[in-house]
Amino acid sequence: MMPEIVTTLALLVGFLYSQSTMSFLPMNELPELFPHVASWITGLDKQANESGRTLNPLEYDLARRVGVDRPEDVRILSVPQIPKPDHPRVRDLAEKVGLLTPDTRGLTAVHGVIVRSDCVNDLRLLAHEFVHVEQYERLGMESFLLEYIQQLNEHGANTSLRAFLGHPSASIFGGSSAF
Ligand SMILES: [Zn+2]
Repeated sequence: MMPEIVTTLALLVGFLYSQSTMSFLPMNELPELFPHVASWITGLDKQANESGRTLNPLEYDLARRVGVDRPEDVRILSVPQIPKPDHPRVRDLAEKVGLLTPDTRGLTAVHGVIVRSDCVNDLRLLAHEFVHVEQYERLGMESFLLEYIQQLNEHGANTSLRAFLGHPSASIFGGSSAF
């Protein structure tokens, strides 16, 4: 083999290796922080359950079509801005990884679909969030969150990359600012 090709291959292998080990989150902190993530999500689900609205017939049908088992349990909570976690380190990391920014339009917490008030009638956004409801139902909250955090760790909040791991694609479900 030509030396240049060997050098190029070595660089490529090095690049791929660095990519495969790239980490967006300090995963060593996960055992300590996970309970705070879970309590943030549980709180949002509770808030949506208490103050959110039920699905209209069109939304109900949409939820059914993406596989949601109990669309009657889904609540949509309209908010001026997605509520941030109380725990400062969790909040800091959620902002750093791109999960919570001023552009964040939606976030799903079990059966609670939290949507920024100017996006509350965006059916593509709701379809994206309903896919997450189905995932929460199927995996359970803790397993879903662990898998989701793993995806964020590997790919950040870059939706085109997350799509490889079965995350609803931005191109289909409207925008990179939906979680
Ligand atoms: Zn999402």
